[in-house]
Amino acid sequence: MAQPNQGSRWCTRAFWQELMQQLCLRGKKRHESGAFLLGHSRSAQVIHAVYYETLDPNVYARGIVEFNGSRFSELWTQCRTLQLSVLADVHTHPGSARQSESDRGHPMIGRCGHVAVIIPSYAREPWALTRVGVYEYTGGKCWATRSAPKLNGDRLEFS
Ligand SMILES: [Zn+2]
Repeated sequence: MAQPNQGSRWCTRAFWQELMQQLCLRGKKRHESGAFLLGHSRSAQVIHAVYYETLDPNVYARGIVEFNGSRFSELWTQCRTLQLSVLADVHTHPGSARQSESDRGHPMIGRCGHVAVIIPSYAREPWALTRVGVYEYTGGKCWATRSAPKLNGDRLEFS
């Protein structure tokens, strides 16, 4: 079941701050908000976010993330164009960063080693890294809980 370890996924502190602001803004403090996090698999650095509603305008129709699977082709097209891979996904929750039943049962990318990040309080400030949830998909609708993201210099490591 083990997959090649991509190493710790990370982004710069500035990228993370922009991501948190965007998720908060896009969720309007009223509904969940999320994105696929793209980067180079070799460096494991996340450098680009593809926000769900840019692929599926109805993704938050019921307040939670319900991504239409037929919209994945557009994501793969963007990955090819940018020559990047999906390194993780991220979405907000109104309360805590615990995975919901639906999060556990429906991984955005059903591949072992895929990482899902959950941001509490609709990504409203202040952002406490210790409250962020990081989960790694281990297959068969099972997940391993990883430690919260850590700041290492200018590098924010989240798995
Ligand atoms: Zn969720």
